[in-house]
Amino acid sequence: MSTDGDTASPRGPAVLIVGAGFGGLGCAKELAKHPDVRVTLFDKHNYHQFQPLLYQVATSQLAASDIAIDIRKEFRKSPNVNVKLAEVVAADPVSKTVTLDDGQKVSGDFLVLAGGSQPNFFHTPGVEHAFPLYSLNDAERLRSRILALFEDADRHPELVDRGALNFVIVGAGPTGTETAGALAELIRDVMPSEYHDLAVRRARLLLVDLGHAVLGEFSPRAHEYAARALQRDGVELLLGTAVKEIGPDRAVLSDGTTIPTHCVIWGGGVMAAQLTTPGVGRGRGGRIDVLPDLTVADHPEVYAVGDLANIRGPDGVAYPQLGSVALQSGRWAARNILADIDGKPHTAFHYHDKGIMAMIGRGHAVAEVGEHRHELHGPIAFSAWLGVHVVLLSGVRQRVDAFVSWAWDYFTKTRGPQVLDRSDAARIDWGDEEEGEEAPRPAPVASA
Ligand SMILES: Cc1cc2nc3c(=O)[nH]c(=O)nc-3n(C[C@H](O)[C@H](O)[C@H](O)COP(=O)(O)OP(=O)(O)OC[C@H]3O[C@@H](n4cnc5c(N)ncnc54)[C@H](O)[C@@H]3O)c2cc1C
Repeated sequence: MSTDGDTASPRGPAVLIVGAGFGGLGCAKELAKHPDVRVTLFDKHNYHQFQPLLYQVATSQLAASDIAIDIRKEFRKSPNVNVKLAEVVAADPVSKTVTLDDGQKVSGDFLVLAGGSQPNFFHTPGVEHAFPLYSLNDAERLRSRILALFEDADRHPELVDRGALNFVIVGAGPTGTETAGALAELIRDVMPSEYHDLAVRRARLLLVDLGHAVLGEFSPRAHEYAARALQRDGVELLLGTAVKEIGPDRAVLSDGTTIPTHCVIWGGGVMAAQLTTPGVGRGRGGRIDVLPDLTVADHPEVYAVGDLANIRGPDGVAYPQLGSVALQSGRWAARNILADIDGKPHTAFHYHDKGIMAMIGRGHAVAEVGEHRHELHGPIAFSAWLGVHVVLLSGVRQRVDAFVSWAWDYFTKTRGPQVLDRSDAARIDWGDEEEGEEAPRPAPVASA
């Protein structure tokens, strides 16, 4: 079946947006202000996930509901925006038609492709045993695995010798570094007060990266600050080292070392999300090449924004995969669509760089603010991080919940939602069944 983008205003131009991440939402919210434009927003989830805080769900600082925003509620007062829960499998730039996973086809006048990223495992063997951190589901699975390892080690302390409390994080970019900081705190401050029998101090946390710096895209001073902060929290840094292979019970490193572990966390890189777009040029990481006005070459009514797009700045260098780039490019695409509708020319995307920041743990953060990258480290950067993230979380309820959780965590050194709720991740094969020994299998229960 083929339908035209169907919304409350039947005669206006129809805009189809694929993906309700920062880019897609930014675009839809801008167009929502124009009741004559009919918008259909497709996402495979019925929620928008705030990816920068996934690691806090994984390390029991925030609940999943704190960082998931109901997409429909965002547009409840915008009858011209129709939300469709569906996976788009293909987008045809010529007919401006999307094909959904059930075979349905929907056509529009403009297409905005905002499908984001997916993990890039760089063909590493055994990645099915790794725990990526790119979706809410990933974060909840990882949280269950971390908690299950503590539960199993508590019941069978001998498992610690077999790597039960060894955690390996791949990638020392913002995802890996922020996860390492939060996990180190969980191990150092929270778990010793909850697992009285367990020698939690025997836990190991290794951060592995092929590069030679922590937080590579920040300044050399920030590299040193972040490395020192992590090492002080007990994180072992293995820089200039790759993870060559992952198994259910180990990580094999490029220097030949084998680390016994049942928890390899993957923060090693991203590539374009899966979406078939015939005849559309792709660049680095499979991203869609766009012109300065964010349209696809030869298709002036087809846009790609955010992580899915290869957006080059005036110097020809592609902008990084950041929430701010996605949000601003989504809004810019909307403005160019409105210009088109009004018969006006498109304008070239201008990115307003507000800087970058990363949290390394309680009281530790780095921030490079503004286009001139004014550097902040330590408690000031930590406060800036808290302020920016509270504001960025879009729902008032989410802001309040997150702020209460952070304050609670900061002052009490306890964590909130330590819920062991993903049985696939919680069930760990210790490989003892053949010897007749019962492998520890915790039932999915709440531990706190
Ligand atoms: C763990 C992590 C931490 C990060 N930390 C930071 C940070 O601190 N600061 C920062 O600026 N950036 C950070 N980023 C990057 C930032 O989150 C991304 O740049 C931003 O989310 C990109 O927005 P987007 O809209 O392009 O894509 P996304 O936010 O990924 O959204 C894409 C949307 O498209 C949907 N989708 C995908 N494919 C389809 C399909 N075929 N059909 C239907 N729907 C589809 C997805 O469900 C998703 O909702 C982080 C990213 C990760 C993964």
